[in-house]
Amino acid sequence: MKQFEHSQVVQELCAITYDMWRNGWDEYNGGNVSYLLSEDEVGELQEAAPRVKVEVEAIPESLVGRYLLITASGSHFRTLKDHVKRDTGVVRIVTNGYEVLWGFEENRKPTSEFYMHILAHAKRLSINPHHRVVVHNHATNIVLYSLLNEVTSRSLTLDLWSVLTESIVVFPDGIAVLPWEVPGTHQIGLDTAEELAEHRIVVWAKHGVLSTGVDYQDCFGLIETADKAAKLALDLQRISGKPIAENNVLSKDNLRAVCQALKVKGKYLGE
Ligand SMILES: [Zn+2]
Repeated sequence: MKQFEHSQVVQELCAITYDMWRNGWDEYNGGNVSYLLSEDEVGELQEAAPRVKVEVEAIPESLVGRYLLITASGSHFRTLKDHVKRDTGVVRIVTNGYEVLWGFEENRKPTSEFYMHILAHAKRLSINPHHRVVVHNHATNIVLYSLLNEVTSRSLTLDLWSVLTESIVVFPDGIAVLPWEVPGTHQIGLDTAEELAEHRIVVWAKHGVLSTGVDYQDCFGLIETADKAAKLALDLQRISGKPIAENNVLSKDNLRAVCQALKVKGKYLGE
């Protein structure tokens, strides 16, 4: 049996973190990723006795007994692939916290956004049993857009849909926006989870973005599409000197026609 380090789920984590860094979304130690292991993947773990137990309050019941592969606090996505057993690890979630079963060598620990990841997984699992991945990074154009414009869930979603025809197909459920908050707190976890009841992407204004999905590619693709649309919107604003809606962008009727043709329902088009 091959070592867990070389398993597909870990290799794909190395690939997505490196690709995110290469896109400029994860400077220095920015960003974090977690993945809920399936039973088969847990089987590849060759489980050792738990090394460390950490108490965490208010663990969602639905996650107790699940195994989470998660990036370490202070890990650098540029080099994570070269330090997998130090910069990532697997924890088993228990009623009052978690136990470290693999990785986190050199006394590393999970990301400071651990609680947010736990709440995000619990919320999305309650909506889609195939949900598996949570990704947070500092996608440049999305952050810049939230610095330049006063954004709400509705305004950001409509702006991004209106500049890139396929974005409404990729995220018909829209993008949620949270006002700026201190990162790493229980509160940002609670607020994010609330928005995840109806969205798969949440923008933390003036900070970054979080996406959830059934696999790594799903999460990467959501952010890639939103960031591309944000770049188009920023360039459009800069070149024309006018607000997005005053340019030759897609109208709501255009967006409704896309939804009709591709059989998706656009969240903010009925209002
Ligand atoms: Zn961040």
